[in-house]
Amino acid sequence: MAGNRCDSCGKLAALTFPEEVEISDEEFDQETGHYSFTARIVRSSECCGVELKEANLEVEGDVNLEAIYDEDPSLRGEELEMEVEAECSDRTEGKGRGLKTFFVVSGTVKIKRPGLGRDLVEDTFSDEIQASHMDEL
Ligand SMILES: [Zn+2]
Repeated sequence: MAGNRCDSCGKLAALTFPEEVEISDEEFDQETGHYSFTARIVRSSECCGVELKEANLEVEGDVNLEAIYDEDPSLRGEELEMEVEAECSDRTEGKGRGLKTFFVVSGTVKIKRPGLGRDLVEDTFSDEIQASHMDEL
């Protein structure tokens, strides 16, 4: 495996764990309950904090909106919003030279009505990428 060279100091760099999950392109279809978003994780050089690798996971799923509307018909036609909570963990497969590391992005999608102090429905998701398959920056 080729080492990762830090763009800033030029040394071979250890890579940070991708703690942060950046969520973008959130889309939620109020007709169908379908949601999608992009979850980005980044690994930086430990020496200088320069971003060296990234992965953009396209996540999608569905929530059951009919259950919400059955319970409270007045919500039909109201504007709903989604909130994504995500975290990154890792897991490994195999041993020794065959060891593979995967980064797992998992969390919860919450559907809310702005101003209403509770979540209407939520869904959980999980997606992963093999560490060696992350894109070079
Ligand atoms: Zn460096």
